[in-house]
Amino acid sequence: MQGRDAEYMKAACMAATFSKDPVTRVGSVLVDGAGVFERGYNNIPDYLYSDIRSISRFEKQSIVIHAERDAILRAARFAKKTMGHTIYSTWLACPRCAVDIIQSGIKRAVGHRRCLTLTPKRWTGQIGQGVQILRKGGVRVDWLEEDCGVEILFNGKKVLL
Ligand SMILES: [Zn+2]
Repeated sequence: MQGRDAEYMKAACMAATFSKDPVTRVGSVLVDGAGVFERGYNNIPDYLYSDIRSISRFEKQSIVIHAERDAILRAARFAKKTMGHTIYSTWLACPRCAVDIIQSGIKRAVGHRRCLTLTPKRWTGQIGQGVQILRKGGVRVDWLEEDCGVEILFNGKKVLL
């Protein structure tokens, strides 16, 4: 692990608190040599619905933007370069976000070990595949073990990361 990993993961935890998802709130930050330059969290595009809680789980799955993708898209919106940088995400990563991370040129992805361990059964296959894709795509994957001191909602429970 690298020196400021816990600090950046804490920023990802803070980003997760912006999510309105009633079950799992995930946060991501993009980091370059100068620090955090973009944040993302799982959400739905503002113009579709005002409240993520008002849509069914089925509908949510097709329109939700995961935290990693959200951070990358927000960076694109403001013409911020992602190439060669690092993404920190509280929960890393589904196959869809993994390919987005690779395709945006991000070279390192850091997830929190606790979320990986607590991954619900319905997601373990997806997450395993996502991590494999990242590695295959040349992205270095690391897991932070340290506490960040921020509580996030994960699979319906409050979890201290
Ligand atoms: Zn994802």
